[in-house]
Amino acid sequence: MAHAYAYSGPVPVASFDSDQLKAYQTLKEWRESLITPSDPNSSTETATTETAVPRLRDPAWLLSDSTLHRYLVARNFSSEESLKMLRASLEWRETCGFIPETPSDFKCELCEDESTSHNFIPIGWDRKSRPVIYGCPARATNPTVPPIVHHVVHCLEKCWIHPRSSGQWVWVVDFNGFGFKEAMQTRLAIAFATTFSNHMPERLGRLIVLNPPSIFSILLTAGKQFVDKRTMDKFVFMHGKPDEIVHRLNTEHEIDMYLSNDEGPETQHDIEMRLMKEWIGKTLQLDATPGNLPELYDSPDLRDVQLVRNSPWHPQSWNVDKALE
Ligand SMILES: [Zn+2]
Repeated sequence: MAHAYAYSGPVPVASFDSDQLKAYQTLKEWRESLITPSDPNSSTETATTETAVPRLRDPAWLLSDSTLHRYLVARNFSSEESLKMLRASLEWRETCGFIPETPSDFKCELCEDESTSHNFIPIGWDRKSRPVIYGCPARATNPTVPPIVHHVVHCLEKCWIHPRSSGQWVWVVDFNGFGFKEAMQTRLAIAFATTFSNHMPERLGRLIVLNPPSIFSILLTAGKQFVDKRTMDKFVFMHGKPDEIVHRLNTEHEIDMYLSNDEGPETQHDIEMRLMKEWIGKTLQLDATPGNLPELYDSPDLRDVQLVRNSPWHPQSWNVDKALE
């Protein structure tokens, strides 16, 4: 499978100034030093001084150009700070075991056993080819923090290796059914905020918050100290009935899922975006309880990015194919 590492962040490489290009080059040279020691006689020294070497299963995956780019942007083009951050992320991957070698390494065993354990489901792509993930805390049954983070990281990385995906993502968080129990999940909020800020910089393109309760402000306050302003600016809050929310998704250009005004037939991408928004509307009509979700629309790409294949909300054809494998 061809990997898509396209990064649709705010600073294209073509517009880098000379200092920024120099910092970018420094990171590339560091990456090269991890892959092939410059002097064969110094390979032992390189391996011992740079502890990340034996961990690199595939530098093109772990340290792609777009990854270096994102870390630079996140650290305001300081090569020193970016390197520190990159090294910390390699350490984090090693500690948590997030070093996949093949797409089948992306998995969540808890959800394989019980599909309602977590609720974090790829539902399509927006106009910028960013994978859109739906999540609803009240539709999940397992509140333990580390496995939730494991699920989220594996799910996102599986989406990003898909050729259709750009390097960012859109998170649709459904707060229907959100109660005191979920509000006390401050450890989860902190784990998300630190994971996204420290190890997935410049990945989150948009965060759409559906029907947040007033108690949400507690979580927001807890998370705010860990999240930078640029991230906070990505929040879009939506209150209202399902059809009102779908209407906003269809019409507001800043959300990048709007209906096209072009005359002529819908493209396949337009059709899938429409089906995705219809799915969100149908979901919002259902009580927010575990497993209570409408069937997803059938799309080979959407099927390919599911972390868990055999879930009740998947189209029947996906499950039939699974049984034949
Ligand atoms: Zn899971």
